[in-house]
Amino acid sequence: MPAIKPSCVRDLKTRVNLVDVVSRVVTLKKAGPSFRGLCPFHQEKSPSFNVNPDKGFFKCFGCGKAGDAITFVQETEQLSFVEAIEALGQRFNIPIEYEAGGGPTREERSLRNELFELHDFAADHFFNSFKSNNKTGDFLRTYWETQRKFPMELADEFKIGAAEPVDTLISAVWKKRFSEDALRQSGLFFIREGAPLSLNTMRARFRGRLMIPIRDHQGRVVAFTARQTELTPTDDPAREAKYVNSPETPIFSKGHLLFNLDHARSHVGEGHPFLMVEGQLDALRCWQVGIKTAIAPQGTAITESQLQLLRRYHTEVECFFDSDAAGQKAALRFLPMSLQAGLQVRFFGGRSGTKLDPDLLFLEKGAAAYEELKKTSLSGIEFACRAYLPDPHQASERQRAEATREVAELINLIQDQLARPDQVNVAMRLLGISLSSMRDEFFAQVKSKKPVGAAAAGASASPSKLKDVHLTPELHLLYLCLHHENLGKPLSHALPHDWIDTSHLGGLLLNRFLGEFEQDAWPGRDHLDALLDNPEEKALVASLLFEESNLEEPGKAATEGLRQLRARALEPRLRQIELALATYAAESNIDAISLIKERTKIQQQLRSPVGLSVAV
Ligand code: ZN
Repeated sequence: MPAIKPSCVRDLKTRVNLVDVVSRVVTLKKAGPSFRGLCPFHQEKSPSFNVNPDKGFFKCFGCGKAGDAITFVQETEQLSFVEAIEALGQRFNIPIEYEAGGGPTREERSLRNELFELHDFAADHFFNSFKSNNKTGDFLRTYWETQRKFPMELADEFKIGAAEPVDTLISAVWKKRFSEDALRQSGLFFIREGAPLSLNTMRARFRGRLMIPIRDHQGRVVAFTARQTELTPTDDPAREAKYVNSPETPIFSKGHLLFNLDHARSHVGEGHPFLMVEGQLDALRCWQVGIKTAIAPQGTAITESQLQLLRRYHTEVECFFDSDAAGQKAALRFLPMSLQAGLQVRFFGGRSGTKLDPDLLFLEKGAAAYEELKKTSLSGIEFACRAYLPDPHQASERQRAEATREVAELINLIQDQLARPDQVNVAMRLLGISLSSMRDEFFAQVKSKKPVGAAAAGASASPSKLKDVHLTPELHLLYLCLHHENLGKPLSHALPHDWIDTSHLGGLLLNRFLGEFEQDAWPGRDHLDALLDNPEEKALVASLLFEESNLEEPGKAATEGLRQLRARALEPRLRQIELALATYAAESNIDAISLIKERTKIQQQLRSPVGLSVAV
């Protein structure tokens, strides 16, 4: 990895406007001398993420995250220090100077940047083929216009492409002298295992297909979806598959990306929610008829991480899935995750029994159909009631009880407490149940001590999977322990182990380090090798140490982290109790009394100072 000249780093920092850098990810509004927006590092509803362009620093007053343009790019794009500087240099047209002269060779250049370049090149190549006046170009343009009924301007706008049945990409790419690593890891080619890389050992993954470039939220092409056509050759190993996607690569992870988010994110706002559709062509159809806020997952179930990405830009989502069984199932899976992520979600087409397909509907009726759908859309809880109990009048008691249980669990997930009583009323009406059965259900759930969100979390979170560590208070505290080692001991006393989420690396290391501090066995931050088990752990610690700590009051930042962990540990239980009590009629009941006692105790805990005493 080539080193970048320190003078160049300093120069870059003074020349790059931090507001321009952050604006690609966060919508900023001017607030006095600084700018403010929703923090990309933690979940919040009111903006506490501040950017000071004069100082060149950002800071979140919610989660304490702070840094400069380089750290911001590193953290939001998961880049190394060098990669982040290269990305900024490219974006702002600032030449990057490397130590030891000459700049990096192709081999030295970071793989990710090369993969972006390769995909950009491939997208141009496919697009040129699509526009060519040859057999493939003519055929696919006709397919696009007459079979799919899309206009040519849309193809130009999204750079729709054509993969030739007899590949032409390999020889074009070969001339550009991309590194072997990049070619092997791009997912664009099949390369014979164990064979040296040559023109003869490479085969194109996509042949005789319509190519749809997949862009990340910053608009960089990172993958392709390829639609089967009559030109798809018979020896294509995936001949029968209608759609073939790029495999996962260092720049493409299906679960972290939403199709068209790069465009849609600048069109959402008050009264303009995101519109989630199932397929990429649905999203393209929406765009064509003037619905600019449509997004689509990558042919897989929607993930928590996609929802996190979404809510950086807007918290309202409309869902338009196919009204068939699979679409309904997808919607029911989506609902708890979106409620838990703090999104307000509405569903289209839940009332009609007829099959609705976004592509066909908007093709026939245009954006007017969208306005019609809005009028009959259902809230998340309305949708769930209808899905779990389609015919409340004919339902058996058992079916009704089952539906009540499912819906009560969902209401428990609604983050906005003020919105809940209304939803309880909706559920009672649609499920045909009384307040007392609803109340009994909430009591049952509180008594079983099922943690809030377990239903949704269980479906998506596996403990071994690394979460986005940058979003957690654990990482924040880990960072503080490393940069301000005097905080370690007091933190180890103030922070109960069970408040730490050890299912991700940041939490795991924080827990381990605090154990060392507690036993006065902390080896000092420059001698941590013995405490670190694998390369991932080492990389995390190194990147944290690499950042300069520019916190004026680290003790305060640590207190904030502690407060967040405490809130996370205690508040869900508090919400469960409050919901149970809110639906409880004024009868005397021993359960209510014990619940009120428990509530008081938790409220006192939450109000009390977190008790971090630091000797400075
Ligand atoms: Zn924050």
